[in-house]
Amino acid sequence: TWGRVKQGLLDDIGQSNYANWIEPLDLTKIENGVAVFAVPTNFMANWVSRNFADKILAHLKASNAQTSRVEFQVVAAQADPVARPAPKEAQQPVTSAHSELPGAPLDARFTFDNFVVGKPNELAHAAARRVAEGGPVTFNPLFLYGGVGLGKTHLMHAIAHEIKIRDPELRVLYLSAEQFMYRFVQALRDKQMIDFKQLFRSVDVLMVDDVQFIAGKESTQEEFFHTFNALVDQNKQIIISADRAPGEIKDLEDRIKSRLQCGLVVDLHPTDYELRLGVLQTKAENYRLQYPDLVFNNGVLEFLAHRITTNVRVLEGALMRLFAFASLVGREITLEMTQECLADILKASERKVTVEEIQRRVSEHYSIRLSDMIGPKRVRAIARPRQVAMYLSKQMTSRSLPEIGRRFGGRDHTTVMHGVRRIEELKSSDSQIADDLELLSRLLEA
Ligand code: ADP
Ligand code: MG
Repeated sequence: TWGRVKQGLLDDIGQSNYANWIEPLDLTKIENGVAVFAVPTNFMANWVSRNFADKILAHLKASNAQTSRVEFQVVAAQADPVARPAPKEAQQPVTSAHSELPGAPLDARFTFDNFVVGKPNELAHAAARRVAEGGPVTFNPLFLYGGVGLGKTHLMHAIAHEIKIRDPELRVLYLSAEQFMYRFVQALRDKQMIDFKQLFRSVDVLMVDDVQFIAGKESTQEEFFHTFNALVDQNKQIIISADRAPGEIKDLEDRIKSRLQCGLVVDLHPTDYELRLGVLQTKAENYRLQYPDLVFNNGVLEFLAHRITTNVRVLEGALMRLFAFASLVGREITLEMTQECLADILKASERKVTVEEIQRRVSEHYSIRLSDMIGPKRVRAIARPRQVAMYLSKQMTSRSLPEIGRRFGGRDHTTVMHGVRRIEELKSSDSQIADDLELLSRLLEA
C-alpha cells in the first residue's frame, strides 16, 4: 500500500516536493495505529513532520491503512536522500572529492522527443533546444517561467539529458530551489560551507527549478546570488525556472531579479486546444502500445482537449485513469464512459462563466455600452442585446432568475424570464439571432 500511497502523494504535492521529501522516506511499520517512518536526518524529520505529516496521514487513511498518527524516526548512517546520482554517473569512476553532484534524479521520460510543441510553448522550446545544443553560451541565464504543469521541469530535464548525451564529461547539476536551500542549510549546520561553495562553483551547467521558493529566505538568496555570479563569471550556463516572471516574484532581492533578467526570459503560455490535442494524441499512442486490445472511439481525445483546459499534468492524469479503467473493465473507450469515469476532473475544470463576462462580450458584439446593459434604456438596439445576455446567463451560469435580474441593474425576475423566453422564440425564427448565440457561446466557452 505504501507504493500506492506514494503515488497519491506524488499527484497531490507535486513532483519536486515528492522527490525531496517523500521518496526518501521508509515506512518501517504500522503498529497500534501509528505509522513509523525512517528518515535520514533530523532536519528532514522536522521538515516532513511540519509540512507533510497531515497529507501523509490523509493518504494512508484513504488507502485503508489503520492509522491515526505518523511518526518520523531519524535513522543515522543512511545514504543522503538528495544525493542520488543517476545510475550512469554512478558507474563512472570518482575522480575527485567533489565529483558527485547533489542533484535531483532526472526523469527519463522528460526528453525533447516526448515534448509536444505548440504555439504556447514554441519559444520556450526553441530556447531550451538552443541552450542544450551547447556551443558558446548565448543566453545566460535562460529563465523559463509559466503556470503549474505547463512543462518547465520537463524542458529542464530535457536540456540536461541532451547535454549529457552530447558531452558526458560536462558536470550538469539540476535541482529544485528547495533542494538548494536544503543543501545550503545542511552545509551551514555541518560547517561544510567551503565544500558547498566549491561544489556549486565547479559545475558546468547549473539548473535551479522553481526558484520562487527561495523568495523571502534571506541567507539562501544571498548564497544563491554568489553562486550565480561566480558561475556567470566563469561563463557557465545557468538555467532557472519559476512560476512567474523575475520582476513579479515577491520578496526576492532586487539585485537577484535584475540578474535573472539579464539573460533570456521566456514564458510558457497556457495551453491551447491544438497543443492539448497534440499532447493527448502522443500519450494515447503510448497507451495503445501498452494496451493493444483496447478499442478507442473517435472523438474522445477531442472531447478531452476541449473540456480539460487547465494544464498538461491534469490532462495526463485524466488519460491515465481512462486507460486504466478501460483495461480493468475490458470495455471500449466511449464518450459516455469517458464522461462517467472522469466526472470529477471534468467538473473541476469546468469553465465558470460569469454574468459580468457575458454582459461584456455581448455588449462588445453588438457595439453597445456596457453601462447600457444594466441601465434603463428600452430601445430595441439595446433591449435586444440585453435579452441575449440574460438568455446566455441563464444557459451558461448556475445563477437563478432573481440573481440574474440583480446583475442587470436590479431588474425583476419576471423581466429576466420574459427576456429569456423572447430569445428562445427568436432562436428558431431569426437566423441572425441564432448565429449570434452560437458565436457568443463559443467565445464564452473558449
Ligand atoms: P511544470 O514544471 O511547469 O509544473 P512539468 O514539466 O512537471 O510542469 O509538466 C507536467 C507534466 O506534463 C509532465 O508529466 C510533463 O511531461 C507533461 N507535459 C507538460 N508539457 C508537455 C508537452 N508540451 N508535451 C508533453 N508533455 C508535457
Ligand atoms: Mg516543475
